[in-house]
Amino acid sequence: MKCCQCNSPKVSNGRIFNQIDYIAPAAYFRPNGLRTFAILDTNVRIKNIFYSCLDCGFVWGEIDPVKLKKVIIEKATDSTKERLDLNKKQ
Ligand SMILES: [Zn+2]
Repeated sequence: MKCCQCNSPKVSNGRIFNQIDYIAPAAYFRPNGLRTFAILDTNVRIKNIFYSCLDCGFVWGEIDPVKLKKVIIEKATDSTKERLDLNKKQ
């Protein structure tokens, strides 16, 4: 695996802690570009497996792409869906 920001092969995996030795409770990703007042069913759980680049410090993780795409298709503004090429029925 390479860093998706600087392309370095020096990548370490790990987990997120919010205190020393206390694994963070479940966290969720809510994409920007949703319609006003779209709140219900817009959070996508983030897996607590992260990666970090030893050269630039970039950190990234993973979520369910099917769930993320469903949120965008059902809740996002037309301009967001157009930018992500999701305007047409899948
Ligand atoms: Zn990097």
